[in-house]
Amino acid sequence: MDHRSDAAEPFSDAQRPTATEAEEAVRTLLRWAGEDPSREGLLDTPGRVVRSYEEFYRGYAEDPHEILSRTFSEVEGYDEIVLLRDIRFESHCEHHMVPIIGLAHVAYLPRSRVVGISKLARVVEVYSRRLQVQERLTAQIANTIDQVLQPHGVAVMLEAGHQCMTTRGVHRPGVSMVTSRMLGVFRDNGDTRRELLSLLSKRSSVSPFE
Ligand SMILES: [Zn+2]
Repeated sequence: MDHRSDAAEPFSDAQRPTATEAEEAVRTLLRWAGEDPSREGLLDTPGRVVRSYEEFYRGYAEDPHEILSRTFSEVEGYDEIVLLRDIRFESHCEHHMVPIIGLAHVAYLPRSRVVGISKLARVVEVYSRRLQVQERLTAQIANTIDQVLQPHGVAVMLEAGHQCMTTRGVHRPGVSMVTSRMLGVFRDNGDTRRELLSLLSKRSSVSPFE
């Protein structure tokens, strides 16, 4: 499967607007909201918004496959679950462009390749810093680890609050959404899945919203 055929993949646009054009678009939105963009407190806002966008969406400029494939090492004989839990992530929903904030738990059962835990967190971060829906974010993280490390199995669980649900529309604060993708032994082997769930249930409860 060509991973670049997924949505939320970098899109090369020869007509990409300049930062100045993007700032002008922010001024349009300010006027549309009922503001005067020439008011003193708002003069620097368009520039700040554009720089924030560079940060929120910098994941388009990075390739998570490369992050993992650069760094794995061959480790024979380690055959237990590797679990990295409570990785805080900040993403933006592609329907409203408002924050999705939550925690990711990433597990895999190595076959021969392992990576440093910071690289797993980086994969979560790169896919988060794109416009997302939580289901696809979950699948992309799992599929990338599966494709590059080729482990016996991968499990990814995300729990997150969606500001498009809490601050607008149905206004349901406190609701979190949980998604998971299990591949290989985590999907096919009940014992392995139970072992993972028991590791996760021992977790100290850390609120993603702090
Ligand atoms: Zn939304």
